Amino acid sequence: MTAVAKKYNDEQQLTQDAQSAFADDWARAQARLSQSLPESTFKSWIEPLFPINMDAGTLVLGIPTRFMRDWVTTNYLSQIHQSCREENSKIFAVEIVVAASPNKPESASSTSSKVSISEPEVPYSSEGPDPNSPNFLEKVSASLDARYTFENFVVGKPNELAHAAALRVAEAENVSFNPLFLYGGVGLGKTHLMHAIAWHIKKCHPKRKVIYISAEKFMYQFIRALRFRDTVAFKDQFRSVDVLMIDDVQFISGKDSTQEEFFHTFNALVDQNRQVIVSADKSPSDLEGMEERLRSRLGWGLVADIHPTTYELRLGILQAKADHLNAPMPDKVLEFLAHKIVSNVRELEGALNRIVAHSMLVGREVTIDMAQDVLRDLLRANDRRVSVDDIQRKVAEHFNLRLSDMQSTKRLRTIARPRQIAMYLAKQFTTNSLPEIGRKFGGRDHTTVMHAVKKVAELMETEHSVAEDVEILQRMLQV
Ligand code: ADP
Ligand code: MG
Repeated sequence: MTAVAKKYNDEQQLTQDAQSAFADDWARAQARLSQSLPESTFKSWIEPLFPINMDAGTLVLGIPTRFMRDWVTTNYLSQIHQSCREENSKIFAVEIVVAASPNKPESASSTSSKVSISEPEVPYSSEGPDPNSPNFLEKVSASLDARYTFENFVVGKPNELAHAAALRVAEAENVSFNPLFLYGGVGLGKTHLMHAIAWHIKKCHPKRKVIYISAEKFMYQFIRALRFRDTVAFKDQFRSVDVLMIDDVQFISGKDSTQEEFFHTFNALVDQNRQVIVSADKSPSDLEGMEERLRSRLGWGLVADIHPTTYELRLGILQAKADHLNAPMPDKVLEFLAHKIVSNVRELEGALNRIVAHSMLVGREVTIDMAQDVLRDLLRANDRRVSVDDIQRKVAEHFNLRLSDMQSTKRLRTIARPRQIAMYLAKQFTTNSLPEIGRKFGGRDHTTVMHAVKKVAELMETEHSVAEDVEILQRMLQV
């Protein structure tokens, strides 16, 4: 029995309260995820997760099959973690393990015994289009967002290359560079540009077969084809298109059989002089878990990156969106938003929408104060860039210690305890790994950091003064 499974069986040891508390946290985090993820994604991957345990800041979630565990861990873990932390800041990590669902313990084991190990398990049965049907591609191709056109795309320094390349591909009579590889961080306009290309081609050449599909869906359809022994039909379908767009190819990294199929489809299309357009969150050479020949093949055509937004571009986008919404906004407020919301365009749009909705519903005048009020959480998230050094300084100040005490080897309780609290906060507020944190505390081992994190979490439950100190420090670090 694994350690986790043992804990699962020893559940009785937990008090009723603690159990329902983490289950409640998870229920709320799940509700949050249902808002931010597409419904199909939520139903297939998030809904089947169930809470098992909460131990030293790690929330353990169960899922019935190995395939599901790997898929969810690779693709959704950071989003899941983020949502959990928004519900409970004491959740430092989320771990997903294979376990029989508490509601239907039999179904999980009976399906897994039927599936051979070499074949990936498909989590749901026969729903979805059949690769043998003539309209298979229309069914798997995602619908295009009407707002994602070239007209609605604001061009600035960070995205001018990607925009020019996309426009060129859309307007070209013959295939010019193949593939076009667009990459950049989340929410910077990759999907928007791909849809814009598709709209343009559909308008000028309605006969051309343009397929836009997320890599996730491509992979899912391919696994289904494998499972139902329809791979030949699947291949023929995909090899008949004029323009193939695959969004977010980082999703198929590490999935060998899907990569293999993608590679062959890709080669076949390029050989027939059909256009392939691919997007990812990293450049081809940085795509980890991607086979070397596929990476190098992806880089053969034109690689165009989208850089993080600049202030000017953010302001331009806000002005365009405000015009589009027919919602006059004071320049000062737009400038304020462009200054403050630096993460990505999606958040910027979200902020503007919230302000417009709020002013319409409540009839409140749009001012900087009002924006600050309505967007409090967003603004804080954009501000929060605390470093381990900041934390050490704040903790040393709070406990009247010298900064060097944070790195020293002194074991005196009055120094060692604050140092542990600082490690705890470093884990919570920064994205540094345990070994990185250890190094910043006088070259300590990652197990020391882990111990500190666990210890402080425990003390917060049992010693009121520790909980109070940590909470004060958390509040100071949040502003
Ligand atoms: P990505 O696919 O890179 O994660 P998206 O294409 O989904 O990002 O863009 C996120 C949102 O931001 C979309 O609503 C998109 O319309 C908008 N957006 C991104 N860049 C621009 C831009 N330059 N001009 C107008 N809207 C943009
Ligand atoms: Mg996208």
